[in-house]
Amino acid sequence: MENYRDIGLKLTPQRLTILDYLQGNKSHPSAEDIYRGVHDRFPTMSLATVYSTLTALKGKGYVIELALDPKKKRYDPETGPHSHLICVSCKRIVDVPGECRVDLPEGERQDFVVLESHVEFYGLCPTCKREKKTAKEVLNVHRS
Ligand SMILES: [Zn+2]
Ligand SMILES: [Zn+2]
Repeated sequence: MENYRDIGLKLTPQRLTILDYLQGNKSHPSAEDIYRGVHDRFPTMSLATVYSTLTALKGKGYVIELALDPKKKRYDPETGPHSHLICVSCKRIVDVPGECRVDLPEGERQDFVVLESHVEFYGLCPTCKREKKTAKEVLNVHRS
């Protein structure tokens, strides 16, 4: 996230609190996570304010919405090119810096001009890997 003081949004104290929370945050928080995270600093903040701020920031291109889980959208203040390692068990999302290029063979592009692509790697984080017994168990979790 660039310096958010000049992003062209009206920066209310509530919005600034959310921006401070997001700045440099690598956990890909959901709206609920943000709501809980700012609660001590701003007890009167409503979840609706968190949502409307996220929508405004998304519109300005300052956060990316990750729809990996349609029931629980996650937000990413890192808007530069990067990929994600996603733990299918605990839903942890870890950044992989840089662009991970996927080349679609000419014949399979079906006349599309490809503008961008996002690469997501699904698997188990080190903590979950230690806890899971078999790969079969893991796949059952992923598919359920
Ligand atoms: Zn995990
Ligand atoms: Zn990310």
